[in-house]
Amino acid sequence: MKRDLDRLSRDIFDLLVIGGGITGACIARDAALRGLSVALIEKNDFAHATSAHNSKLIHGGLRYLRNFELSLVRESLKERRVWQRTAPHLVSPLPFLVPVYGGGWQARATLAAGLTLYDILSFDRGWLADPAQRLPGHRWIGAKEALAREPRLQGPGLQGAFLYYDAQMYAPERLAFENVLDATLQGSVAANHLEAENLLLRGEKVEGVTVHDMLADARFDIRARLTILAVGPWADIFLGRALGNDARHKLVRSKGIHLIVPAMTRGDALTVATRHGHFFVLPWRGYSILGTTDTAFHGSPDEVGVSEADIDQFLGFVNEHLPAARLARDDVRHFYAGLRPLVDDGASDTYGASRRAELIDHSSSDNIDGLISVIGGKWTTSRALAEKTVDHAVRKLNALVRTCTTSHALFPGGRVGRIDAFLAGQRVTYDRVAGIDHLSRLYGSRVSEILTLANAQPGFAKTIGATGEIVAQIVYAMREEMALTLEDVVMRRTGLGQLGHPGEKALETVAGAMTAELGWSEDHKHAEMSGVGQEFRTVGAQA
Ligand SMILES: Cc1cc2nc3c(=O)[nH]c(=O)nc-3n(C[C@H](O)[C@H](O)[C@H](O)COP(=O)(O)OP(=O)(O)OC[C@H]3O[C@@H](n4cnc5c(N)ncnc54)[C@H](O)[C@@H]3O)c2cc1C
Repeated sequence: MKRDLDRLSRDIFDLLVIGGGITGACIARDAALRGLSVALIEKNDFAHATSAHNSKLIHGGLRYLRNFELSLVRESLKERRVWQRTAPHLVSPLPFLVPVYGGGWQARATLAAGLTLYDILSFDRGWLADPAQRLPGHRWIGAKEALAREPRLQGPGLQGAFLYYDAQMYAPERLAFENVLDATLQGSVAANHLEAENLLLRGEKVEGVTVHDMLADARFDIRARLTILAVGPWADIFLGRALGNDARHKLVRSKGIHLIVPAMTRGDALTVATRHGHFFVLPWRGYSILGTTDTAFHGSPDEVGVSEADIDQFLGFVNEHLPAARLARDDVRHFYAGLRPLVDDGASDTYGASRRAELIDHSSSDNIDGLISVIGGKWTTSRALAEKTVDHAVRKLNALVRTCTTSHALFPGGRVGRIDAFLAGQRVTYDRVAGIDHLSRLYGSRVSEILTLANAQPGFAKTIGATGEIVAQIVYAMREEMALTLEDVVMRRTGLGQLGHPGEKALETVAGAMTAELGWSEDHKHAEMSGVGQEFRTVGAQA
């Protein structure tokens, strides 16, 4: 997979997709599978923004039932099954416990009704070939059983807990990447570190964009019959600049932070109700992810981060509602922040704002032809959103194409059959590779390519850091997965930076391997290392 800038500047594409988060990546894959010629550009790296910095859940969104968003919940539950089937290495069932405290019957009855409806709306949750992926319906468990499962539920008046199931992503950044990879395998051209600066407008028609190559500091034009803007929290900023109408497509940006702490549960996720909503304790790679917050963010999306005040506040909040947690600042191993790009629907707070997606054809809203904007609502529903978007694009282009196949087409790493048997087989075949489960999850059926490379040269099988990564992954990321910066490798192609700073020695190893392969100068290498260091630092107070 190469960054083919020549082709990008030379060809005229059917579709140009701007933004390599999950929304843009799904659109590019869907369009490519249908036979359209597609270009996909991303100003930083694929899935570096919201699509990596979320709760990692593939879920129906139980709480949206409170707003009676039944169709959004049903669509999400349907899509949950699609992800489980097409990317079984990266999406797995996750049991959730919702504890109920206090003597009143109302809370319990409301939850029971909500979960019954959730079960009805996910009537097809068992329709999967792999029994390990089939999700049971909900049930009530008493206080004794709940505490035996999860002692951290201890608290005054515990009545018991509801047990229900949703799904979790092992690595959202890699799942988004598999969309990009699949798009390129179908003939699309994708390039990261390429920013769309301005629309190429001929009269009232968009004919593509002028791009800025962030690595070479060069500019050129990309031409397409239809341009699709999928830039998430940047959408209104880009449109305001390009079309000169700041207020028309207003977004509300809501910041959500997550903290990674030592494992707080034995394997269940917890959904804890609070005065203003809920928070999750999510088991993940041997740790717990605590998430999330929901506060309006007024700064530049390029500068979102987690402040010490955010961490203090959120820890205080978790300790208040889950007293047995007793978390302190030292327990926080890693943190990250994302921005929900919410369509301004007039909701009084961001928690209450709808997670519905929006598709805008600018020929209706701005009298500009050849431009569509898509603002994604949820990771879970991004495939369905892409299908609707490409349907619309095909109609506009009047193109003769194949039908959409993304509801069943397996991802490049998804050819694993039954997941438990696959993982067991890999353990036997590669019994000397300590992190084989981790590698099998990250790459799925493509893991053999990594392990073949590991055998190709002395030193490639060596372990780096404590997350189970090996040197071959770095080489593979550069040669086969378009990783061009240290951050691309550490934060997204591998899991090295996912649990916090991987250690100076590990960073030095990765930077050394990249210097050798890409011919970096010593100065460049040090700049890359200090750039990655920023990922693990808190920022000044933010709003
Ligand atoms: C805290 C939080 C928790 C969440 N949890 C969940 C969850 O558990 N489950 C779920 O289903 N959903 C969840 N979501 C929602 C989900 O993450 C988003 O809906 C989804 O990631 C949006 O993807 P996107 O591609 O639209 O945006 P992004 O991922 O932000 O991608 C937009 C991309 O456009 C690029 N871009 C911007 N400007 C330009 C330009 N000029 N040229 C080129 N590229 C450009 C950016 O660099 C970026 O990579 C959560 C969101 C947040 C914030």
